[in-house]
Amino acid sequence: MTMPSLAGAPWLTHKSAQAVFAALEKSGFEARAVGGAVRNTMLALPVKDLDIATTARPEDVLEAAAAAGLKTIPTGLKHGTVTVISGRIPFEVTTLRRDAETDGRHAKVEFTDNWTEDAQRRDFTINALYCDRHGQVFDPIGGYPDIEKRRVRFIGKAEDRIREDYLRILRFFRFTSEYATGPADAVGLKASADLKDGIARLSGERLRSELLRILETPRAALAVGDMHETGILALVLGMPGNLDRLQRLIAREQLLGLAPDGIRRLGALAVTWPGSAMFLSRHLRLSNAEYERLATMAMAGSPHASTAPETDIKAYIYRNGASAYRDCALMVWAAEHSDDGATNLYRKRLELAQSWKVPHLPVNGADVMDLGLASGPRVGRVLSAFEDWWIAADFPTDAAILTAKLREFVKVTKA
Ligand code: ATP
Ligand code: MG
Repeated sequence: MTMPSLAGAPWLTHKSAQAVFAALEKSGFEARAVGGAVRNTMLALPVKDLDIATTARPEDVLEAAAAAGLKTIPTGLKHGTVTVISGRIPFEVTTLRRDAETDGRHAKVEFTDNWTEDAQRRDFTINALYCDRHGQVFDPIGGYPDIEKRRVRFIGKAEDRIREDYLRILRFFRFTSEYATGPADAVGLKASADLKDGIARLSGERLRSELLRILETPRAALAVGDMHETGILALVLGMPGNLDRLQRLIAREQLLGLAPDGIRRLGALAVTWPGSAMFLSRHLRLSNAEYERLATMAMAGSPHASTAPETDIKAYIYRNGASAYRDCALMVWAAEHSDDGATNLYRKRLELAQSWKVPHLPVNGADVMDLGLASGPRVGRVLSAFEDWWIAADFPTDAAILTAKLREFVKVTKA
């Protein structure tokens, strides 16, 4: 099989990347790009970042970088990783490693000079290709045929690889969803199902990041379907998932051309009431902002239905923001089984949420006091009553009407 060269790939010829390779080579070490950058270039997909593997030990990387005038961050010296900053771009430079000891969550690593050993401790065959700074590709474990066939397969024995690190079960679904074209590899799927109980050992943070990345892939419905059937989904979520609602959300997002959103998809998959938003955010160590979004989705209801009057929608957006409205409208829509005519209604409402410029309350405390009310808590009460009226009246702007109404509220409050 002829191996393509990656010479000319923009991320490889970029002078910032070349400077890192040159620094290591000048000090007598080998350095090659590995993982996502090589894989994605071969698949003609965009490259996000560049991981570099090297025969240099971490302390040698620090020294070589300093000699070349490049800044470094000692990201994980014990694990062999140094971040080298070149042209303001961070590059993760990791010493070739082999696993000395694993417990299903963490690995004790030993450094090596052997590229094949380094490849063997990686997860999937498509992730174990390397390329030097001229674009020549190295394939120690024979991953290239899987690149060509778009197959995601474990390196070596799937069960052994999962027992070393149970996160690889989730990575299997993520990479399959992102890069495979056919169904999930049967061997990997069976090993994942057989060993699923190990998922309980993983930290919430690691579960969170892989799960959200799975949910963000275009083929998420398929991956989550496999996870559901094997019983893996319930272990990851810590509760059963609503696969149907997720599938409808994805189909409808695609219908409207909306970009995938992991948290929104998680909401459709697992949020049924505010308690489940709280549970998930603890279980998966979600950020406060992520929790707030799920909690908002848990309250989705009548203002978000396709039949809601426009004034209710504007009132909701005024108080909660357009993105909360969008999450909730999609949540309500995803819960609906039939789709007779709803698509156009939801499309119009989501367009309104996108384009409507939320107005500011046109009066303030000083206006209330100008009408004769002394400063104090009653000013706030007048303003809040006025605001309720103003929202219900569809945000009028006519100054004469606004002043007359404010005067009424002041009068009632004074009495
Ligand atoms: P992307 O950055 O697009 O997610 P990637 O393949 O670069 O894809 P990373 O998580 O950045 O993924 O990891 C870089 C490489 O390190 C992988 O390609 C793989 O070879 C190896 N790797 C990462 N995590 C693991 C793991 N848990 N077990 C084995 N190998 C891993
Ligand atoms: Mg990467």
